[in-house]
Order: sequence, then C-alpha cells, then structure tokens
Amino acid sequence: TPTVAVVGRPNVGKSTLVNRILGRREAVVEDVPGVTRDRVAYDAAWAGRSFTLLDTGGWDPEAKGMAARITAQAEVGVAAADVVMFVVDSTVGATDTDEAVAKLLRRSGKPVILVANKVDGPSGEADAAALWNLALGEPYAVSALHGRGSGDLLDAVVAALPEAPPESFDVDGGGPRRVALVGKPNVGKSSLLNKLAGEDRVVVDSVAGTTVDPIDEMVELGGREWRFIDTAGIRRRVHEASGAEYFASLRTAAALERAEVAVVLIDASEPLAEQDLRIISMVVDAGRALVLAFNKWDLLDDERRDVLEREIDRQLGRVTWAPRVNVSARTGWHVDRLVKALDTALEGWEQRIPTGKLNSFLGQLVAAHPHPVRGGKQPRIMFATQADTRPPRFVLFTTGFLEPSYRRFVERRLREDFGFEGTPMELSMKIRE
Ligand code: GDP
Repeated sequence: TPTVAVVGRPNVGKSTLVNRILGRREAVVEDVPGVTRDRVAYDAAWAGRSFTLLDTGGWDPEAKGMAARITAQAEVGVAAADVVMFVVDSTVGATDTDEAVAKLLRRSGKPVILVANKVDGPSGEADAAALWNLALGEPYAVSALHGRGSGDLLDAVVAALPEAPPESFDVDGGGPRRVALVGKPNVGKSSLLNKLAGEDRVVVDSVAGTTVDPIDEMVELGGREWRFIDTAGIRRRVHEASGAEYFASLRTAAALERAEVAVVLIDASEPLAEQDLRIISMVVDAGRALVLAFNKWDLLDDERRDVLEREIDRQLGRVTWAPRVNVSARTGWHVDRLVKALDTALEGWEQRIPTGKLNSFLGQLVAAHPHPVRGGKQPRIMFATQADTRPPRFVLFTTGFLEPSYRRFVERRLREDFGFEGTPMELSMKIRE
C-alpha cells in the first residue's frame, strides 16, 4: 500500500490529525513533551483507498537541536512516503523551521499536501491563506481537533496517491526484490553495503540537483538486481545523542514498510543486545521475510563462538526459522551466502499450500497428535486454509480453543513439512461450536 508521512514541528497537532484520520482516539498519544512513541505506522483508508500513515512525530520536542531533528524527520518522510503531509500551526504562522522544511520538501519532488491546522478561531481563514507563501500550493485549512476540513484534506491526499504501487511487488512482474538492511548502529551495515555494492553501485530515486540524498540503491547479487531500501539512511549515520535512537528506529520502520525481506545485521563479537531483539521484532511484526546475518566473524575466537551459540539459543527462540549467515563485511568472508538466504526467506514468505494438501497433512497430524483433553473436551481442527501469503496466514476452523502450545506445535510441523523458512507465519482460529 502507498505510504503517507505526516511531518511538522512539535505541537502543531500531528497526533490529533493522525487520530482524526484513523478515526479512533486511542491510537496515538498527544504531543506531550518527553513522550516518545514506538509505533509509527498505521493502516488508514479513505474513499476506498487504503494507505499506510506514517507518524514521524514521536520524538521529544523539548530536546536540543530541534531544527536539525525536524529536518531529519522530513527527510525520513520524503524517503519513506509516496505523499507527504506537512502540518503547520496556522495560529503561529510559518516559522523559520517551517520554511526550511518547505524548502526541503519542494526540492524532493514528492507530492506535498500542506495542512494549515488549528483553523478554528475568528482569523482562521486569513491565517491559513497566509501559508500560501510557503510555495507548497494550496494550504488545506483544517481543525484536527474539531474535524473541520478533514474530508477535503483526505480527498486531496487520496488524489495525490500513486495509481498503482510504484514498484511492482509482483513476483511474476520480475521487478527487483526489495531488501531492508537493518541493525543497530556500528554493526557494520554500511561496510556490508559497500562490500555488496562495490564501487559501481547504481543509485536510484535521486532527485536531480537537490540536497536530498539518494534513497535506494540497486545492487547486483548472484547475477540478479536487488533493491536496497533507504541506503541513504544506512550511509548517513545519526550522530547526535539525543533522539538518535528514535530516528534510527523510525528509519528502520519506514524501510520495512517498503521492503519484502529484511537482513538484520548483528555484531557477533558483542553480546546480543536489547536493540537487536527489538529490531528483529519489528521485522516479524511488520510481516516481512527475515534473514539473520552475524557480522564481524573475523573477530571471534572459539570461546566467543560458544557463548554466542548459547545467546542465540536463549534469546532468539522466537525466530529459529530464520536463515542465518555468518559473515565478515571487513574481509568479505561468506558475504556471497546472503543471496541464498534471501532466496530461501522470500520463497517461504510467498509459499502457498493448496487447501487439499494442507488438510490431508493436518488430518494425519491431528490423528497422530490430538489436542490434549481440557475440562472434559477435546478441541479438534476440522479444516484449514491458507488465507494469504507474504507472509503466510492460516485459518484453522476448530471445535474449540486450541491452547498456545498446541498452536505452536502445529506451526512447527507446518514449517518442517512445507519448508516455511525465513518467514513469520500467522495461525488464527475460527471456533465452530
Ligand atoms: P553501521 O553503523 O552499521 O553502518 O556500521 P559501519 O559499517 O559503519 O561499521 C562500524 C565499525 O565496524 C567500523 O569501524 C567498521 O570498520 C567495523 N566493521 C564492520 N564490519 C566489520 C567486520 O566484519 N569485521 C570487523 N573486524 N570490523 C567490522
């Protein structure tokens, strides 16, 4: 689905607007100083079009270096989105920071919808009209708080969405596969990218003569082209301490939105960190195919290798299905093995099991391993179907509630038998009494 990013200074009403568009109050917390949000992407729809709404406003507005952070936020918006909504507080008017963002957005070449928010007082219309001088076209006068103008605004957003997805996600379409290379700072992402891409990399989506960085790069691996998402974000490191982690995670979330498969790069020479696990969870929750790559293998001695195996057993139990490659971005060792892992993960992600095959498999499984009796009842799987791929989703029609351990058992056996490697998988139940 296309992506719409919401950018703007703190307290201009971004969260209220996002809530208004989503039509539910609890989705996003308010722009409270000091509150940072983890969730950035939401499913939204208007006039029959669905889109992903990217709320880029979750950083601490009291933090130092606000202008730099706003610029970073707008760049993420430009990198990730098909359409950018730029929210300005019409009661304040365009500030220097707003002017700087407007300039960046004008140069990006992306469709921009200018939102004049807080148009609810007597001078509202005039305040909104004053924003024409940002040279971003018509300011849409809205009151996110009271709902005024949001219909017209959403009409404009939907009209600016691309007709079809910008690149075909279609396998048969033969477009390059889209890879997000993610991981915490210093694990070696840009080193690996350099190793993979070499000198003659092709930069795509750059806007001629602009200060905005190129966004993606085409990289040839195993004789095929792959599209590496948001390589600008990989090469440009966020240095400022305050807010850096938030922006890194925003970029990761944005890259995952556009990717089919993620390579999570981990520094094998250091203990697995909370942040590594968080990034892996982001991939799984986004429903993308997953490859785990352990980098800096050249630094490992036997002892560290043993300890690492134990860390993996203990902490990565949730993703035992993910293909794993050990590499050294520095020496290039085993870097070529990434291709096979990517192919494996994408294959699992796209696999569809015919209903007949699925049910004969489950029939045998359930006969050999029935659900334990609970409270005098024994729930049974009557029928199952694979409702979706990318990632695979299964619906189990049952006679009662299947306990989680049994569902995990079924999932494990499905993976073993059909080879769903490298993909998250969803099993849901429909209980027929
Ligand atoms: P990024 O922040 O994830 O993009 O990480 P960089 O690519 O900038 O790498 C961070 C540091 O780790 C740099 O000093 C690299 O030279 C170093 N590095 C990256 N890959 C390897 C590797 O495979 N082995 C060793 N020994 N060092 C590495």
